[in-house]
Amino acid sequence: MDFGFTDEQEQFRDMVHTWVEREVPKEKARDFEAQEFEYPFELWDKMSAAGFHAIGLPEEHGGQGGDVVTQMILARELARSLAGLTWIWGISSFCAKSAALFAPEELKKELIPKLAAGDIRIAISLTEPSGGTDVLGQMKTSATKVDGGWRISGQKIWSTAAHVSQYLMLVARTDPNAAKAARGVTIFLVPNPSEGIEIRQIPKVGMRSVGSCEVFLDDVFVPDTHVVGEVNQGWYQMLQTLNNERIMVAALCTGILDGVIEDAVDYLGQRSAFGKPIGQFQVLQHYLADMVMWRKQAELVTYEAAWRQQKGLPCGVESTMAKVIASEHAGKAADLGIQMLGGMGYALETNMQRYWRDVRLYRIGPITSEMARNVVAESYGMPRSF
Ligand SMILES: Cc1cc2nc3c(=O)[nH]c(=O)nc-3n(C[C@H](O)[C@H](O)[C@H](O)COP(=O)(O)OP(=O)(O)OC[C@H]3O[C@@H](n4cnc5c(N)ncnc54)[C@H](O)[C@@H]3O)c2cc1C
Repeated sequence: MDFGFTDEQEQFRDMVHTWVEREVPKEKARDFEAQEFEYPFELWDKMSAAGFHAIGLPEEHGGQGGDVVTQMILARELARSLAGLTWIWGISSFCAKSAALFAPEELKKELIPKLAAGDIRIAISLTEPSGGTDVLGQMKTSATKVDGGWRISGQKIWSTAAHVSQYLMLVARTDPNAAKAARGVTIFLVPNPSEGIEIRQIPKVGMRSVGSCEVFLDDVFVPDTHVVGEVNQGWYQMLQTLNNERIMVAALCTGILDGVIEDAVDYLGQRSAFGKPIGQFQVLQHYLADMVMWRKQAELVTYEAAWRQQKGLPCGVESTMAKVIASEHAGKAADLGIQMLGGMGYALETNMQRYWRDVRLYRIGPITSEMARNVVAESYGMPRSF
């Protein structure tokens, strides 16, 4: 088994690393994040200029191609500085890849080149207020067939960046009588704004500039041309894209571990107590050793999941485990990082608190650690617990 990068992937990693240092070093990332409700358009535009939105998208539609390992390298390198803000790339990448797989040809031709260039954004509108884990059981947003299209009514929650997106990739129930809840939902690309849509941002703990939104839909018309994939098969289509999303989240959390370790090592060398650098205290060295060992675990499981996906091997359990291991280890590391920085760890002028706030999300979304553990246990023959 070989987890080594190709020469091209190594060069790509070096290029992104240099780009991050030049364009979005940690001080800049801190400023971007701090502006609550002010979407970081400058960051988005920088990513567009660097061509990052095109990575992983088919070349025939204006993408740059690029395999899952290349995408994973990008997510990790960005997150070392940007932490959760990396997800402004992640959301767009997820939606673009789903559109590339399932959208009708005409829509692909129209949208993917614009997505690849960063000229438009798409937000994911799946979760509803009555439940994200039991999203199918609780889905109340419905779409009714009318002449030439569909009328959608309902409510979504936590649609990240919906307020600045030109489309919502929205899942709605299209067959209330389907024998199985999974069989009666459809994915729509809802133009935004549209008559009947109202969007409100939710104040939140991390990634504060990137609004996560409530979306209210009142009889919103969506043309037939904007149905993504097959009517009533939306859930099965989404399942095909979830592994990639989990691998990207795991890579993002591994990047946060990189940032945490970098800042911890710096501080251990700079700060003194009792006449010596605090890095000489064994307990702090042990904290650092734990962080490094957590990162090694996160890196290995993430790379293996990516490698499996690239080879076309089953990777559902591996990508789920990678997401849990990387997010939980990164959370523990950021917490210890704050401890190592003492009072400065609690100050908004350092990055440690930003890593800690941002990474907390990834134990909750896109799948909670509890639900992810259900997936892992079931893969060991356990009966479904819910
Ligand atoms: C900042 C942020 C950004 C987000 N961005 C998006 C986005 O862009 N688009 C989108 O659609 N969604 C988004 N989400 C939603 C996210 O995916 C959901 O929050 C997540 O799926 C959990 O759903 P919930 O919040 O409704 O929690 P619930 O489903 O209500 O869960 C509550 C608790 O019950 C536990 N639980 C539930 N069922 C089980 C079970 N069977 N076994 C064990 N435990 C269980 C959960 O693990 C959790 O601990 C975002 C969320 C946040 C906070």
